[in-house]
Amino acid sequence: MNLKQQQYINGKWVDALSGNTREIINPFNQEVIAAVPEGDEADTKAAIAAARKAFDNGEWSETPATERGAIVRKIAELIERDKEELARLESLDTGKTVEESRGDMDDIAGVFRYYAELADKNGGELIDSPIPNSISRVVHEPVGVCGQITPWNYPLLQASWKLAPALATGNTLIMKPSEITPLTTIKVFELMEEAGVPAGVANLVLGAGSTVGAELSSNVDVDLISFTGGIVTGKKIMQAASANVKKLALELGGKNPNIIFADADFETAVDQALNGVFFHAGQICSAGTRLIVEESIHDEFVSALVERVKKFKLGSGFDEDTQMGPLISAEHRAKVEEYVETGIKEGATLAVGGSRPEDPELQNGFFYLPTIFTDCTTDMSIVQDEAFGPVITVEKFREEEEAVKLANDSVYGLAGGVWTNDIPKAERCVKKMRMGTVWINDFNLYFPHAPWGGFKQSGIGRELGKLGIEEYTETKHIFQNLKPEPVNWF
Ligand code: NAD
Repeated sequence: MNLKQQQYINGKWVDALSGNTREIINPFNQEVIAAVPEGDEADTKAAIAAARKAFDNGEWSETPATERGAIVRKIAELIERDKEELARLESLDTGKTVEESRGDMDDIAGVFRYYAELADKNGGELIDSPIPNSISRVVHEPVGVCGQITPWNYPLLQASWKLAPALATGNTLIMKPSEITPLTTIKVFELMEEAGVPAGVANLVLGAGSTVGAELSSNVDVDLISFTGGIVTGKKIMQAASANVKKLALELGGKNPNIIFADADFETAVDQALNGVFFHAGQICSAGTRLIVEESIHDEFVSALVERVKKFKLGSGFDEDTQMGPLISAEHRAKVEEYVETGIKEGATLAVGGSRPEDPELQNGFFYLPTIFTDCTTDMSIVQDEAFGPVITVEKFREEEEAVKLANDSVYGLAGGVWTNDIPKAERCVKKMRMGTVWINDFNLYFPHAPWGGFKQSGIGRELGKLGIEEYTETKHIFQNLKPEPVNWF
């Protein structure tokens, strides 16, 4: 397959103004699957101007919310119609299994449907005014022009969390997908055009973070930046966004603890601990990469994990029996390798993995074996830093309080889990865990109705749920005096 793709600016499909292109690589075999325009600051400025004009002329923001909702619902229907094509494209671009990508597409359509339903339920509130003869009310209005920047791990899913609430609430936007995985986002812009999103309302610029992303973050005509990605980039965006005090929504990384108590259902906890990390080869912000296991079951638990990990089937996302695909790129695999070398130097014990697979059929892909480190302590950088790959660190604990203390010993606060059949104990733990999402006897589950986001350095704001729509609205208080009289002060 060799796809030719374009940017979408002001309702037109266009190449980069510079004429430059970037090759998109299949991480399973390094084949070039597409050549896409490599936009830069000039393309971004054109897209911002289009989005600014479309917002300022009020066409979209003043479209009745029911009509905007109908268009957002139509996008969901078109995603469902083209689900198989989108799923295969996502797998081609990211290396994840098609089965997983099909699940992503269901979730993505669900996000558009959820926000379509909320579009006309964003009305304001009448305040019980303390001033006689007055009306005091609160309304929610769109923020304006939104810059949206997404990562490569869940390209279209992360885009949907931003596109759907922004459109439902009447904003205009410029989306910049990861330069490594733009293909499904391009396809969804075609579907948004088909669904009837007016020209200039939703714009797509392709290119690097240092050019397109930096321009979006610093340009004073952009009112809000919604970013999902790494913590280092998030900090740069915060600085750039201070140029005009943009609203910021940041979904950053995670180093997520998963506490396993001895009284948990052993087999289920083993199974879900694996699923919580090795799904999509650990390239998940909420991956439960930091296992914290009660000492009395530690050895048995680790043995069970290792036995299962040795049987994992690595391969093409297009083979039905593949459980884990490749990492996204050569650069990213090199970072994971460096992380594992650090773990060895720091004195952690390599229980399994720690290298590339030897299977000759996997040599052209960016594969890395599922890896487990034991004898880990929180002072090790491998316990503190995000690997964003298929690597678990295991720590031991004796007391409930110690487990919670270990779990909270991180600059991140995205997600965490607790496995126990003692419900009061679980409730005591989750109350003290400083994370935006905490699962009891589950891991990694999310749905559009519940908010998603991080405590501490895992981010600012929330996506999904009703809070996800609040990110895209400004709140205005309107006061009306029904009996105007002079104040007689001056
Ligand atoms: P990244 O920060 O390298 O890149 C993310 C996006 O930012 C890309 O589109 C990139 O081009 C852009 N970018 C890079 N430099 C920029 C700059 N100076 N200004 C503006 N934009 C810039 O992250 P990644 O490697 O693509 O993704 C992995 C990271 O994303 C991990 O840390 C992961 O935890 C995080 N993530 C978080 C969530 C969440 O919900 N919290 C979800 C998915 C991924």
